[in-house]
Amino acid sequence: MIAYLEHFVHENDSEPMLQQQHEELATTLCQSMDLEGTIDYRSTAYAGKDFGGLHASTPFAVVRPSGSRDIASVIRFALRSPNLTVAARGNGHSINGQAMANRGLVIDMKRSSETVIDVVRLDDGYAVDVGGGALWEDVLKRCVSNFGLSPRSWTDYLGLTVGGTLSNAGVSGQTFRYGPQTSNVTELEVVTGNGDTVICSDAQNSELYFSVLGGLGQFGIITRARVLVQPAPNMVRWIRVVYSEFAEFTRDAESLTTRPEGESFDYVEGFVFVNSDDPVNGWPSVLLDPDQLLDPVFLTRSANPVLYCLEVALHYSKGNCSSTVETRIERLLGRLRFMEDALFQVDIGYIDFLLRVKEAEKQAKVNGIWDAPHPWLNLFVSKASIVDFDRFVFKKILKDGIGGPMLVYPIPRNKWDERTSVVLPDGDIFYIVALLRFTNPYQKSPSVRDLVAQNHEIIQVCVRNGLDFKLYLPHYNTEEGWKQHFGDRWSRFVEMKSRYDPMAILAPGQKIFTRHQ
Ligand code: FAD
Repeated sequence: MIAYLEHFVHENDSEPMLQQQHEELATTLCQSMDLEGTIDYRSTAYAGKDFGGLHASTPFAVVRPSGSRDIASVIRFALRSPNLTVAARGNGHSINGQAMANRGLVIDMKRSSETVIDVVRLDDGYAVDVGGGALWEDVLKRCVSNFGLSPRSWTDYLGLTVGGTLSNAGVSGQTFRYGPQTSNVTELEVVTGNGDTVICSDAQNSELYFSVLGGLGQFGIITRARVLVQPAPNMVRWIRVVYSEFAEFTRDAESLTTRPEGESFDYVEGFVFVNSDDPVNGWPSVLLDPDQLLDPVFLTRSANPVLYCLEVALHYSKGNCSSTVETRIERLLGRLRFMEDALFQVDIGYIDFLLRVKEAEKQAKVNGIWDAPHPWLNLFVSKASIVDFDRFVFKKILKDGIGGPMLVYPIPRNKWDERTSVVLPDGDIFYIVALLRFTNPYQKSPSVRDLVAQNHEIIQVCVRNGLDFKLYLPHYNTEEGWKQHFGDRWSRFVEMKSRYDPMAILAPGQKIFTRHQ
């Protein structure tokens, strides 16, 4: 069977398979892998693309497994072949082909996963068991509507899968309080690159558990995660305030993200914007409601090329006394040094707040910019280097904006578990910098190649000026790049790879290891 398959993978490139051959092969392979799910050779194009739109590579086939057992069968099948690789594909929201498998097998996790499997009572609260391919937006809706519970730590956009974000970190405005999503699970079910299905946690198979969290899909496929939850609030006050000085913005953002719970907001983020009336890059991007009008006086308030917006939110329940909520918000805002009157706020339902990027997605789909390439760059920059980053990058290279959000906000390091595979810069606090570029296929704008080159320039400027930073959602084309990324943790990463995926079958699109023959 394997030899027969190899013929199709490697020798039949130029000859399109006939429908009958497809069906024969599908049936034979399903039987050979003993799959309960399905395998598809024809409608595979989507699995060879991703949100970044910068890379394309065609898989040999896409498997839609019916559960962990099928995933284990696919991996064992690949192990028996001379060179097949296997990529779990969450929602394909990577930028640089990380979920692709050139001529390999892509496992479509999203189509196969149950969302919320069960609620679990823990000693000090509750958790939910969710499928590795579940979308976070579905987890949210099911948890809130069925149990009145909600995960604590999120990403900004929820059209991402549980296994996909746990393989990276999963950060947003709640990370300062609860840590990344990788700090908000207590147990995983993983199918390793050896084809073994293993339950792991801090107490059981902990080496695999911590390797998989932030492990870029290198050690196993997450088929289930136990996610910490808490009672869901029903309302959110969503607030944006503007600063003209970076030092004041960082002072307030760091203060809010390091104060004890109860003395801060429930969500803290920030972004840089251009000091102009440009609808995408400028002041209008700060408004929270289409009915809010921009006071032209703001445009003359500061001579700085870019300004800084601190974005915060406070949870409350409809039953809360409104004057108590107002008093709390006033007290918290009273300590901040933003520009006078540069305050924008709205009240919004909790679910709508968490799904806020979904609205932007709908708009972007209509404008054609959701499906156009996204040369994004994400970095973690240490607190010690963030002023230089602002000086060299925001105020110079990116002073005219990037056609999308430029996020920058601090995260305390003590909320991260250093035993996971995620690598961070030094210091007690670091900033996430997310350059979320959108390109407009219908307007004259810099080419994607120029934007990718600008990302390289930013990295080079950071390196030349000795800034302390790490790439988030990293992407390197050389082993040397990965070695530098992992630093003194590289040898451990390699050791774990040899233990849990010795043939280097998994997640080939990360381009860290090459499949052993
Ligand atoms: P994919 O892109 O499909 O996969 C990513 C990697 O994980 C691949 O290597 C894949 O093989 C592997 N993988 C997928 N599923 C599994 C699994 N079950 N087990 C093991 N490995 C697996 N990130 C944040 O932290 N915060 C944000 O606010 C945020 N916002 C975003 C907004 C948008 C619009 C986009 C496009 C991305 C955003 N991201 C954010 C990045 C996101 O976390 C990554 O793209 C991540 O990879 C999740 O996407 P996915 O589920 O589509 O995974």
